[in-house]
Amino acid sequence: MRAVDVLVVGAGPAGCVAAWEAAAAGAGDVLLIERDRAIGAPVRCAEGVGSAGLREFLNPDGADWVSRRISRVILIAPDDTQVALAPGDVGYVLDRTRFEPVLAEEAARAGATIRISTEAVGIERADGAGGGRWRVRLRGPGGEETVGARVVIGADGVETMIGRWAGLETRVAARDMESCAQYVVGNIAFDPDAIYLHFGPTVAPGGYAWIFPKGVGVANVGLGVVTLRGDGRTVRQYLDDYIARHFPGGTVIGLTVGGVISGVTVKRTVADGVILAGDAAHMINPLSGGGIVNAMKAGRLAGRHAARAIREGDTSARNLQAYHDEWMRLLGDAHQKYYRLKETINKFDDAFLNGLARTANRIPDEKRSLGRVIGSALVHHPSLLPIAAQLFL
Ligand SMILES: Cc1cc2nc3c(=O)[nH]c(=O)nc-3n(C[C@H](O)[C@H](O)[C@H](O)COP(=O)(O)OP(=O)(O)OC[C@H]3O[C@@H](n4cnc5c(N)ncnc54)[C@H](O)[C@@H]3O)c2cc1C
Repeated sequence: MRAVDVLVVGAGPAGCVAAWEAAAAGAGDVLLIERDRAIGAPVRCAEGVGSAGLREFLNPDGADWVSRRISRVILIAPDDTQVALAPGDVGYVLDRTRFEPVLAEEAARAGATIRISTEAVGIERADGAGGGRWRVRLRGPGGEETVGARVVIGADGVETMIGRWAGLETRVAARDMESCAQYVVGNIAFDPDAIYLHFGPTVAPGGYAWIFPKGVGVANVGLGVVTLRGDGRTVRQYLDDYIARHFPGGTVIGLTVGGVISGVTVKRTVADGVILAGDAAHMINPLSGGGIVNAMKAGRLAGRHAARAIREGDTSARNLQAYHDEWMRLLGDAHQKYYRLKETINKFDDAFLNGLARTANRIPDEKRSLGRVIGSALVHHPSLLPIAAQLFL
């Protein structure tokens, strides 16, 4: 049986960065496995990331894994009123088929071994002298084999099995699961330097619709819907209706469906010899649905703590708890506030959101930052004050 120090399951952003960081921090033998045939594909994502978070890991300037640099955000009310925020260094729309391979190459350069077409299909605990190990059954092109690991990092995404197998509670309540559908649409007119976020219970109940440019005239156009809040249409029907209304002449050249967890971090992200990172631990921003940079930040912490625990010769849940605590301080606690805020915003009807948009458009174009939009909304709609207070509770 092959034995490694750290086995990372899943080569998405969380897993690639976890393997990169664990190897760089001297964790020893680090193995990263991915069940798909290519790292980064298929893409189930709108691929938008904020500039500052991305730059903590890689330099996007001139990179071939960037589809588009974004300098503007345009919010859209249910009645199609647009609120353009003042331009700035907003972020990027990635090409994830190229982005994740670059992260994986960094992991390999740091010393990790990478295997594609290899799926973890079961794990069991083997206790022994000097702390326990996990025996992980892998299925790959050469058949089945078992690998021993001192720490398993479960970076296996929304449908994580590592968490369940390790006894961690990772089920998602229906009210916290957004069903998403997205087309890549060509031959459409929009500002290729802007991302568009379209809100309203009739547009996308419990979520929002997005237009994220992949180039001039071509964009990821999608939406996320909490089915429980919907009117009986499937998410694909919501999207088809959206495209018919806004881009009737567009050419659909790709379809993606997937789930986004819009809840908060699971209560326990660690077990003896196990750390969950990224979507597997529900570490997505519940307001925006953004999870790429969060997954990378969690992966970085997971890799570091795995290396530390191995150095200390103590991979128990008690010692790994420092990972959970650090994540909660970094973003997990903030997500709980965003979650409460999202729950309240979800109660707004179309008329109220249309009113907010008109108020925001009274701010001069060049001064219309998100902060000012929120400030002006509070002044003109005092009923929002209790909601704003939630951010500080
Ligand atoms: C439609 C849609 C649009 C989105 N848009 C955005 C966006 O614009 N911006 C943003 O920041 N976030 C977005 N997200 C969320 C984002 O995609 C995720 O938060 C992010 O990919 C999480 O990274 P991860 O590494 O945790 O998981 P994933 O990226 O899901 O990676 C998990 C990997 O594990 C592999 N795996 C699973 N099980 C096993 C196994 N047993 N053995 C081996 N490998 C396994 C999978 O094949 C996968 O490659 C979107 C999500 C969806 C569905």
